[in-house]
Amino acid sequence: MKFLSISIFLFFTSIIFSQNTYIHCGKLIDTKNGKILKEMTVVVSENKITAIEKGYKKPSTNADKIIDLKNKTVLPGLIDMHVHIENESNPNIYLERYTLNDVDAAFHSTVFAKTTLLAGFTTVRDLGGSGVNIALRNAISKGYVDGPRIYTAGKALATTGGHADPTNGSRKELMGDPGPKEGVVNGVSDARKAVRQRYKNGADWIKITATGGVLSVAKSGQNPQFTIEEIKAICETAKDYDMHVAAHAHGDEGMQRAILGGVKTIEHGTLMSDKTMQMMIDHDVYYVPTITAGKEVSDKAKIKGYYPAIIVPKALEIGPKIQGTFAKAYKKGVKIAFGTDAGVYPHGLNGKEFYFMVEAGMPEMKAIQTATINNAVVLKNDKIGRIAVGNYADIIAVDEDPTKNIKTMENVVFVMKNGIIYKN
Ligand SMILES: [Zn+2]
Repeated sequence: MKFLSISIFLFFTSIIFSQNTYIHCGKLIDTKNGKILKEMTVVVSENKITAIEKGYKKPSTNADKIIDLKNKTVLPGLIDMHVHIENESNPNIYLERYTLNDVDAAFHSTVFAKTTLLAGFTTVRDLGGSGVNIALRNAISKGYVDGPRIYTAGKALATTGGHADPTNGSRKELMGDPGPKEGVVNGVSDARKAVRQRYKNGADWIKITATGGVLSVAKSGQNPQFTIEEIKAICETAKDYDMHVAAHAHGDEGMQRAILGGVKTIEHGTLMSDKTMQMMIDHDVYYVPTITAGKEVSDKAKIKGYYPAIIVPKALEIGPKIQGTFAKAYKKGVKIAFGTDAGVYPHGLNGKEFYFMVEAGMPEMKAIQTATINNAVVLKNDKIGRIAVGNYADIIAVDEDPTKNIKTMENVVFVMKNGIIYKN
């Protein structure tokens, strides 16, 4: 009897797993070659793409399913290289540091994760939170929570008083003296320890705040905050654990130290000089512009009381400059990775970045490539960013041809991640 029930179970599971999904794509974007293919069928089996064929192919068995996207444009799932999935900008966010527990952040993050996924972003890199982002990544990959694949830095690294020092702006008794365990480093040995602690915690990437930042409760939005020795120690240690380093940077000096220290991506890059752009090219460092965040932050700074007073002048000065820097860097040939800093503005609006990139002079197809194949390269994952046989079935669709109207990327109408449909 037991044997019989096991064989019945195996029989049914084999039927379930042999089910294929045939996606009929009116237009299909080949991100590798930058081409649009017409009237294609993508076959999905379990969580993988198993075939890509010309024309609208019919399934061979009744168990198979057809998804009709004949009047849509189909793309691989998008990748955002810079999000903060644990929280979302609001006027009380500076108070929430003292009122919310990690458990609150965890519940909130599940909502932000789902919103991000439904906006067509099937993979994100989280560049800093409390560490809840690591638990969220695990819960999503186990299937408990709906959300994108997450690569996470856990808690970002700062120096004392620096952009990611978690007790900036607190009264004395609450300031304490956070150390490497909390992501605050001073000197080479702290730097190594902080990276190893992130590894121990389960981080995939290391994030440093190479310069001051706009949204921290501190005066400078751009001064260098690490020595080059500290950055080198961080990058070398990260390499031992097969991790790369992302550097938040607005000011030029901090950016140059980060590049020479060995980071893989520069985030924001607001005041990047020509010389630094050339250094990015020479050292194969990617630029993650986050234009959307710059614009949103300067807009919010105009609302009285939205940010603490010390932040307002920084937001008004730095925010609007990112798009111009991006335009110059792209023209010069700096490699671009798509990233938006979602969380600094509402999650799910990540697709706005495409329009801002195009507005700054990048062709539509190139912008789409930054969010797909470029980001897959930076993440060292060749199973994402492309609709190709053997890749994960991360597939999305939009109503219009984005090479004709890039704003269609802000309204993703179909989302499949890892073979599961989340939006249709
Ligand atoms: Zn950020």
